[in-house]
Amino acid sequence: MNKPIIGLNVAAGINVNALEAELASVKKWGYDCAEIALDAFPLIISGKENKKFVEYAGSILKKAGLHYSAHIGVGLDLRSRDQYRLHMDALLASIDICARLSLNPLVLHFEQDSHNPEVENQFIEGHKKAALYAQQKGIMLCLENIEVEHYKPVLEAVKLVGLANFKMNLDLGHLYIASKYFGFSFEEAIRECAPYVGHCHINDNTGIFEPMRLENFDLYRALPMGYRITFGRGDIHMPPFYGEVPIEFSIGILKAARFSGKYICEYQSRIFTPFNQRIQKHIREVIERQPAASEEKGI
Ligand SMILES: [Zn+2]
Repeated sequence: MNKPIIGLNVAAGINVNALEAELASVKKWGYDCAEIALDAFPLIISGKENKKFVEYAGSILKKAGLHYSAHIGVGLDLRSRDQYRLHMDALLASIDICARLSLNPLVLHFEQDSHNPEVENQFIEGHKKAALYAQQKGIMLCLENIEVEHYKPVLEAVKLVGLANFKMNLDLGHLYIASKYFGFSFEEAIRECAPYVGHCHINDNTGIFEPMRLENFDLYRALPMGYRITFGRGDIHMPPFYGEVPIEFSIGILKAARFSGKYICEYQSRIFTPFNQRIQKHIREVIERQPAASEEKGI
């Protein structure tokens, strides 16, 4: 049985000169993989790949010798009516970069169902096109559930695209908050999603939905994270086992469903520096402890 690949997200907003040191830290803390936010650097300019910068970043990634996955830049919106072409270009350029730098999978956000059938059709068709393009390049696309939306439309979108390289990125922290806000069973949701999951984001929170997230997103983003952590408000991206998300249960269900993707701990590692190594050890121990499907059946 293959060893699980366990990674850490690389914080957005990092100076490229600090990337080498950041990746060395990820490795030193014992993680196997780094998830790179594609908008952390000017890798794409107005929908086109910035090849010189991609090459430069590639040389740094290669030196660090980790596995990599990628997170799409903030603001990609295949529901856009007037700038659809530009958003599509940015997505295809992101796939090109993933192929060039061996970042796999590429995580995309579902965001919110518009409840407009035409818009949703454009969203699905765009993802189908992107997934076919990614297929030729050996890249998997994984659609992430966000806490502002029920998981069902995300799962439905994965099924509608219906391609082997288009799966769900299950974010456990987002699912937990959504389960409290929308009032569904977290455990049932995990069981229903598990067969469609290609990538997993692990982070913790208290399950409290921050209403500002829907009422005023700009104000929400301006809330100091220290304040939100102190009062446990919303999607606070704590390390695994610092909150209430049933992480061990979720991993057990994923492994029983033969999940073979990467586990990315998506938390604010910069404010947990002295603890990052033990956080890695703890989650690895929990992942390795859960039986895989074949072990469960004694095969
Ligand atoms: Zn996530």
